[in-house]
Amino acid sequence: MSNVDPNEIARFEELAERWWDADGELKSLHDINPLRLDFIEREAGLSGRNILDVGCGGGLLSEGMAARGARVTGIDMAANALAVARLHLKESGHDVSYVQSPAEEFARQHPAAFDLVTCLEMLEHVPDPVSVIRACATLVKPGGDVFFSTLNRTPRSWLYAIVGAEYMLGLLPRGTHDYLRFIRPSELATAARAAGLEIISATGIHYGPLTRRYRLGPGLDVNYLCHARRVEP
Ligand code: SAH
Repeated sequence: MSNVDPNEIARFEELAERWWDADGELKSLHDINPLRLDFIEREAGLSGRNILDVGCGGGLLSEGMAARGARVTGIDMAANALAVARLHLKESGHDVSYVQSPAEEFARQHPAAFDLVTCLEMLEHVPDPVSVIRACATLVKPGGDVFFSTLNRTPRSWLYAIVGAEYMLGLLPRGTHDYLRFIRPSELATAARAAGLEIISATGIHYGPLTRRYRLGPGLDVNYLCHARRVEP
């Protein structure tokens, strides 16, 4: 339990019933969801794959992957978020199995059990992200795919993701992100390699304040998404 920040979990617990409000506090996750689903599908395929979604929250990504034909398990520590995720299945008719568990414990119970592991917008909320990266590497089969997304630690990410998104544009609730927990791509790559993952590709997730749209593209200096693969022994 040591690698869980209770303040972070409380913040996501509070948001619980707003997870599926596409115009609410979690609007940015709704907006980027099709982009990241396309990226994962293009890079690794979704249909028929056995997937674990680490830090699944209310299940936006988990359900999206299930809708594209994957068999999905989602884990998170926020009980209310999981309750909302389960409730939403009744509405959508999709099938996802949701479990309250820290990544590290789940990894001890299910080593090499998944074809693909996703851990999106979660590492920057955890005291020890390297430990979660290691857990993701343990959970995926050799040769399997792992996707991480997080915020880079640059002056520009401070300006865009905190000042811009939280204070000027109100895209995210204030206090959502702590700059010191942001992770540079080089740090992510080092931790991934040490855990037996090789980085295959990475893309930036960009917001256009004028178009109010997100797009994927080069430039990892704010929000970025990367694809890694577990090295075969
Ligand atoms: N991955 C989802 C949700 C991102 S929000 C998506 O991209 O749509 C971050 C989520 O991480 C929240 O649901 C929060 O409860 C969860 N989280 C934060 N710290 C965690 C931890 N230590 N273990 C498991 N989940 C955690």
